Amino acid sequence: MGKVRVIGRNMKYNIDNIKISNSLKYRLMFISGAAVHLCFLIVFFSIRVPELGVVNIFSVLMYVLGSFFSVNKDTGNMRFGWMVAFFSEIMVHTVLCVLVIGMEADFYLYLLVILPISAYVLYFSCTIEVFFRTICVFVAVSLVSGSGSVMVVNSFEMFPVCPLSYDDISKLRMINMLSAALMLVAFSLLFVLEVHGLIKDLGRTNEKLKYIATHDELTGLYNRRSIKPLFEELEQSGEPFCVVLGDIDDFKKVNDTYGHDCGDKVLKTVSRVLLDNISEGDTACRWGGEELLLIMRGSKEECYERLSAIRERVISEVVPHESFFVKITVTFGFVSCTEADSIEALITQADKLLYEGKTSGKNKIVV
Ligand code: GH3
Ligand code: MG
Ligand code: MG
Repeated sequence: MGKVRVIGRNMKYNIDNIKISNSLKYRLMFISGAAVHLCFLIVFFSIRVPELGVVNIFSVLMYVLGSFFSVNKDTGNMRFGWMVAFFSEIMVHTVLCVLVIGMEADFYLYLLVILPISAYVLYFSCTIEVFFRTICVFVAVSLVSGSGSVMVVNSFEMFPVCPLSYDDISKLRMINMLSAALMLVAFSLLFVLEVHGLIKDLGRTNEKLKYIATHDELTGLYNRRSIKPLFEELEQSGEPFCVVLGDIDDFKKVNDTYGHDCGDKVLKTVSRVLLDNISEGDTACRWGGEELLLIMRGSKEECYERLSAIRERVISEVVPHESFFVKITVTFGFVSCTEADSIEALITQADKLLYEGKTSGKNKIVV
């Protein structure tokens, strides 16, 4: 299971493990804003609209500050404040540009572009109620300020205050189109990467939860609940199989003599031996305290041979505990699928054989 990697503070990469941090989104937002306004600053002074050039000095300053302070702390309020500042700056700048140089330069594009970007960034950094309220306000303010400024320019002679030549308008238009498109593409990619990372993360969490729900924590064997679907599958498949119920011998004595921890070690050791020595189609399950259920696929002879090998392996194991070496044996009740009509009946039968084994000396397979 891969570790989740965070892109942002510590830039790391692996497309399936990506988690886009809020800091990265805010920083990208403010850095791209600073870059665009720096570009305007130069252009406005060069085309002799110093009023807007000065406005852009303040904009660049605000964006540079934002790129530092909006990522400092992961506190919702601070981020939210910076988001409102970001939106307000774009709105004021757009309205000013439309009033001063007219609407032909397409500045109102930013009022549209800011909506999906702020929706994406806000969604992951505030509650859903705040998100909906804020986006409604942003949409309303965008529409009112965009259409309002266009109406003002169309209705009053004095606007635009400083009409530009066709060449200058074209220059600004190109900058606006390019930067709006770039911002949209960049944030769309970031969004896709984030969703991809979240889906992968969810998949990994589901796998983990599925494992926890179906396996015994101590031994790593299947738990009793998870083995039920296998019974149905076996009953329908018609393939030969055997049912084995095993029980660790004198386990209570191990607990009483060496302690519960040692008992756990013994349980783990027996389970490991089972897992290491069963065949691919076989299933090992922790049936009860120190009772283990094995479903082995194959003929009676094949399964018996494999089980004998397992019993030998258990005998050869020693469990080190403090200054002792604890020896283990297991008694098994073994039935083949032809000996009863249902899996439940086979298990009952295996349990009877196991009991026989316990009362006749233990450490054996009773068939
Ligand atoms: P037999 O040879 O007849 O099977 O005797 P036994 O002592 O193994 O069986 P008994 O049923 O008397 O005792 C089983 C003990 O297993 C009792 C219980 O406390 C212990 N046990 C059950 N689950 C766990 C576990 O997860 N860890 C440990 N350490 N002990 C457990
Ligand atoms: Mg026992
Ligand atoms: Mg028992």
